[in-house]
Amino acid sequence: MEKSMHVLFLASEADPFIRVGGLGDVAGSLPMAIRALQTSPQADIRLVIPFHSAIRHETQSFRQVASFNVYHRDGYIPAQAFYTESENLPVYLIAGPPFSADTPVYSGNNRLDGYKYAFFSLAALELPHHLDWLPDLIHANDWHTAPAIYALKINPTVYDNLGKPITLLGVHNLPYLGDQAGPALAGFGLYAAVNSPLPWWAQDMPLPLGLLSADHIVAVSPSYSKEILTPEFGSGLDEFLRGKADLISGILNGIDPFHWNPATDTHLPNTFNLDNLLPRRSNKTSLQNEFNLERAPEIPLLVMITRLDPQKGVDLALEALRQITDSPWQLILLGTGTQVLEDSARKLEVDFPGRVRSIIQFDPSLSRRMYGGGDIILIPSRYEPCGLTQMIAMRYGCVPVGRATGGLKDTIHDSGVTLDPLVPDNGFLFTNSNFNDLAAVIRRALQVYADQGEWRKLQINGMEQDFSWEKSAKQYYELYLQLITNRGLKS
Ligand code: ADP
Repeated sequence: MEKSMHVLFLASEADPFIRVGGLGDVAGSLPMAIRALQTSPQADIRLVIPFHSAIRHETQSFRQVASFNVYHRDGYIPAQAFYTESENLPVYLIAGPPFSADTPVYSGNNRLDGYKYAFFSLAALELPHHLDWLPDLIHANDWHTAPAIYALKINPTVYDNLGKPITLLGVHNLPYLGDQAGPALAGFGLYAAVNSPLPWWAQDMPLPLGLLSADHIVAVSPSYSKEILTPEFGSGLDEFLRGKADLISGILNGIDPFHWNPATDTHLPNTFNLDNLLPRRSNKTSLQNEFNLERAPEIPLLVMITRLDPQKGVDLALEALRQITDSPWQLILLGTGTQVLEDSARKLEVDFPGRVRSIIQFDPSLSRRMYGGGDIILIPSRYEPCGLTQMIAMRYGCVPVGRATGGLKDTIHDSGVTLDPLVPDNGFLFTNSNFNDLAAVIRRALQVYADQGEWRKLQINGMEQDFSWEKSAKQYYELYLQLITNRGLKS
């Protein structure tokens, strides 16, 4: 039998079982895409997620495949593993008392979540032994599953039966370090690091402990993998991370080209494709109608689809637009988030009643109509590990104006700012995070918009780009293979 590469992928959430944020998209798509690759050796990748209460309430059937105990200093905690498959991907769900209550995936209280996820992380390490299937590599993600990597590092003899897998930690959003979770981890025997190169304040936080212990670290875009080494984006860990720079790489996330497809999207009044963008115009008119904005095809329709969070630079956009009163534009903003930003968005609508509509809702259907009818999407993020909105927008012919940071910088090409002779322009970038520079790039975009021939080229260039998961999956596969090559495959 040909050898296969065994990978155990740990995540706190995964679509279609449960999705709260971007990690759910990644964990719901990437392992399947890797498993589907026609490669030799074949990747036998398996996903492990918690059996959250919201999943238990579903009708899908899950088969119990193992039960075991997880050490805690107050007494062993019983765990059960259930099995199902999702598009040929083996999926294990870990149940046990920490997940028995009807609690959300993230409670916002890291003391509580630390207990849940330390239990989950350690249970995930117990699982392979009960399946008679040993991983060559364990791929954990973010602070919630980072304790698995720390546990392997500090207790190698306890996990002897795992056969010393390579450990890889995915960083989706560095500032979420898991602060306050330290005491919960200690309850599971995962004590603070001593004499480590971590800053003192980070010695008991799960993400820093995972970063300290992982054989390799992967950030969700090449640019973000460099940015986290700087004081501006390093969340206080930049010096420590610079010491591990040769163990850090970046791979861009993908989007599902079937899920996000303007040619088949049933939420759009009119579907369209690369060869015929004409129906897109009526989608714009429909939006102007729906939101009682002037029905004028020549007025550029700006959209924002975002969490209203300081990370996303929404305040910069609102301020920048206030500066641009000498040329026509309309804005539909869709988002929810902090009170301050929600109020500011509403205020912009009050101050610009003929131009602005602020929809303070989470509305996936409306978001699709906006991607498929808006002319320009504003994404002025202060930092953006990867970002999906710019990729979705480009697929729908909505041209992005974004800050040159993280994944935005890696996907939006603007030869006025970054020169990549291999990739044609597909949007607009600005570099410094302030509203004057943002206003300047919006003006630049509005000028180009006036030349519809040039605009069409930007739209087509964006629509032609390949943001599929398959591309990312191949890069992850190569990374896995490279990391375990020297270790030898187990079966
Ligand atoms: P993040 O994960 O940091 O919020 P991303 O750009 O990676 O940002 O992903 C955001 C996703 O959430 C996109 O699919 C976007 O369409 C969607 N989204 C954000 N806000 C809303 C909203 N108010 N209504 C519907 N979809 C939204």
